[in-house]
Amino acid sequence: MKQGRLWAAGHLHSRMRGHLGRPVVFWEVYFLRQALYRLYRPRTFDEVVGQDPIITVLRNEMRQQRPSHAYLFVGSRGTGKTTCAKLLAKAVNCLNLQDGSPCGECAICRGIDDGSLLDVVEIDAASNNGVDSIRDLRSEAVFTPAIARYRVYIIDEVHMLSASAFNALLKILEEPPEHVIFILATTEIQKVLPTIISRCQRFDFQRIDSDVIAARLLDVASREGFVLENEAAQLIGRLSDGGMRDALSLLDVCAANEGTVTVETVAAAAGLAGSGHLLDLTGKILAGDTQGMLTLLASLIQKGMEPQRIAAQLAGHYRNLMLAKTLEQPQKLLDCLPTEIDALREQASGIALPDLLQSITALQDAISRMSRSTARRAELELALVSLCEPSVRTGYQALLTRIERLEAALRRGAEAVPQRAEEPAAPVSPPAPIYSPPPEEARLSEPAAPEAPSPVPVRQTARPAPATLEQQETQPFRPWPQVIDQLSGFNSSIAGMLRGTKAYFDGRRILIDVSNPAVLEMLKSNDYTRRQIKQAISEVVGQNYGIGPYRPPVEQQEDTDPLEQLIASLPKAENITIEQ
Ligand SMILES: [Zn+2]
Repeated sequence: MKQGRLWAAGHLHSRMRGHLGRPVVFWEVYFLRQALYRLYRPRTFDEVVGQDPIITVLRNEMRQQRPSHAYLFVGSRGTGKTTCAKLLAKAVNCLNLQDGSPCGECAICRGIDDGSLLDVVEIDAASNNGVDSIRDLRSEAVFTPAIARYRVYIIDEVHMLSASAFNALLKILEEPPEHVIFILATTEIQKVLPTIISRCQRFDFQRIDSDVIAARLLDVASREGFVLENEAAQLIGRLSDGGMRDALSLLDVCAANEGTVTVETVAAAAGLAGSGHLLDLTGKILAGDTQGMLTLLASLIQKGMEPQRIAAQLAGHYRNLMLAKTLEQPQKLLDCLPTEIDALREQASGIALPDLLQSITALQDAISRMSRSTARRAELELALVSLCEPSVRTGYQALLTRIERLEAALRRGAEAVPQRAEEPAAPVSPPAPIYSPPPEEARLSEPAAPEAPSPVPVRQTARPAPATLEQQETQPFRPWPQVIDQLSGFNSSIAGMLRGTKAYFDGRRILIDVSNPAVLEMLKSNDYTRRQIKQAISEVVGQNYGIGPYRPPVEQQEDTDPLEQLIASLPKAENITIEQ
């Protein structure tokens, strides 16, 4: 009963916070009673849910009293690794083993439960003293256990160990003492040394099926004496991403309120109710309203939402759109309120499936870049601006569209030739200044000014050197396509935005054509973007240059046809038209 679980701290899953605020009221109640996930942690192998193959093997080993010296439990959070490690530690030492499962009653089992049995040691490798613990472990492992049959070391998040700690661990694993058993657990197996993995019996914990989780939640609810609607249990099951601990924690928050736990209770606790901002943000993206989108994004960040969280939510929203578009009955798979399905369907009808898929890929790319970058907000802005501007997308579908346009343009090649021939080669009129570069840029470009070195010496291209080094007039900057290619190697969002643009060289700075307002917007507002572009320029021409915006003079405006820009940006296409 609820009254029984008092005064124990618990764990709260991040999803339980509202999108824009924190449900303080839940915390107050939450800390006063024992968390459901602790109360319903399995006490026997039978009670472990959703990992049947693993339990069968472990149980057989226990029945035959032939444990391994080292186990490796691999799997995402909340799938039962630590629970099984503790059960195993009990089972190898239990005084009254029940068909391969620990009894949960004897002095050993109780000692492990309350942490008083010193022969079972839990080490959290993620904490600072994890490394020291491994060093201590080497010296103490030689001693026989005080009370239990085996000394058991449970090392959680083992991938977090330092190289020296890994080596210390490896030394023990090479010749493990008879009375020692290691149970290593990790969420990131790729970070564990192969030499460690090869010395362990490995078990891969699967994400638990959402139906299995829902059934367990209904069982817990009936034991706790509150009503959990079937639909609500299903929603928690889907939200917890295969982790039973997260599911029980979410149920805990929902059950803190009196009365029946409904879909609405779950949605409010999980912060699903406030997903209107995702519909708004996506609406602006689909309308191509770059400015409106950036304004809304700024206000969300202003309200305290982290860029990474927005990106993850938006990726989830696009996934929902994809499901709403492709499935007859998307309800079973959607992470949203039943009442939101109509809005999702309507929004999904306004976007083509290839565009949806490409947007999801772009968002996932951005999320992965954000995890490596300190300029998270800039990365998010870049990704969203590129979603707003279909003409600058870099995905397969966009590429296909561009190639089709290019082919059409090449078929019209005969018309294009005279037009290109009449076009004055260089110089072009001086640039119309649109904004003054910040002081940092002026400084960067200073060293280049006295000698005004030409950006022409580019590797792997043989172009004639300029007639004079004292070049003062603005010329087309020919290596620009190479710069964009270089840039795409480390930032495909910016490269995608710049593809098809032209650039000019005024003897001092590289001036980028900003007839696309989104490009100008990013150059003006985003220092990170400018640094990335300058890095690519420097890598291609081997010299640092400042950058600035360039807008062609009015009389040449008709030259900004995107097809012409595209042709101009592809040297081969240029050759074809000239030879014809
Ligand atoms: Zn026991």
